[in-house]
Parts: sequence; structure tokens; C-alpha cells
Amino acid sequence: MDRAPSTARLVCPQCDLLALPASLRANEVSRCPRCGVELDRGTYASREAALAIAAAAAQLWILMNVFPLVELSLAGTQRQTTLSGAVVALATHGMPALAALVFLTAVAAPGAEIALALYALARLESVAQSGALGRMIRWFRTLRRWSMVDVFMLGSLVSIVKLAHLADLVVGPALWACAALLPVLAFLGLYVRPQKLFAGSHGA
Ligand SMILES: [Zn+2]
Repeated sequence: MDRAPSTARLVCPQCDLLALPASLRANEVSRCPRCGVELDRGTYASREAALAIAAAAAQLWILMNVFPLVELSLAGTQRQTTLSGAVVALATHGMPALAALVFLTAVAAPGAEIALALYALARLESVAQSGALGRMIRWFRTLRRWSMVDVFMLGSLVSIVKLAHLADLVVGPALWACAALLPVLAFLGLYVRPQKLFAGSHGA
């Protein structure tokens, strides 16, 4: 194997052909020369754009954790709950494992993912020079596997539909923030990739 260590290859997802990655401008697409499947796509990647996305994600994450998720009116009494309130309620009502899972997948992992992206993007040069960028991107990918804001959102929507005929429900700001966080986190995952970060930092 005489593969140059610095030369990454793209593997065609359809026919397994190995191809050298081309440097793509925004919206340019590289296709497999054998079967024509899309291999890579150029994005408007820049470190500033990635930082802005990470900052927006941080704000939405804070809103999601501070404001009420839902407000429930039943027989004249009104109750509202926040995300952390829901976790505490689960833990104190005999479901500590579920409480821990909700805390890990909807609060801790997304928060750590966003904080790590913010730190790596804000200090990209020093992080890259110290050789820690690869490790940080691996942590980021691991955290993304545990970050399940989409599953939480889906579960909340199902609960709201099921409870809607029992009580009056008002969707709180936290759930709207959660909905807005989903595409922002998807964009963040798109930008925090080694080739995109370096393309952005060299291009700037
Ligand atoms: Zn192919």
C-alpha cells in the first residue's frame, strides 16, 4: 500500500470505487466516474458561518432549557414544566433511568456538542497547531450519536397529541426553540468536518 497519508480518498457509496476528492466551490457536486452517484458537495463553508451557526445553536439550547416546554390547564389549574423540571419529575416518580436518558440525550449531549463546536471553531488555529483538532472532531461525532433532540421532539409531539383531548395544552417557547434547534444542529454537523474547516480557514 503506497497510499500517501495526507491524501484522503472518497469511497463511492454505490460501487465502492475509490476517488480523489476534488476541491469544490459552493453548490458544485462531484460524482462517481463509474456510476454517477454524488460523492461530495461544495458548501458555503467558512469558519465565520460555522461559528454563527454554533452561536445560534447555543442560544436555542439555552432557550430550550430555560423556558417552559408546555403549559397544561386541567380543571381550572394551570401547570407548566421546563425540560429540567420534566427530568426531575421523572426521577422522583420512579423512573430514574428514563430521567437519566432524557437528561443525557436532550440536555447534556447537545449542550456539550455545541460547546465543543464553539470552542474548536473559536480557537481553530491553536487547536489545530496543538494537534487536538482530530480528537475534538472525534468527540464531536461521539457526542452527536448521543444527541437526540429530534427523538425528544418527536416524543413531545406524540405526548401533546395524546394529551390534547384530556387537557388544554399550550406549546411553550422551549418546544419552539427545540424545533428550531433541529435544522441548526444538522447544519452544524455539516460544517464541523475536517475538510470543511480547513477549506474555510485556508480560504479566509
Ligand atoms: Zn460509483
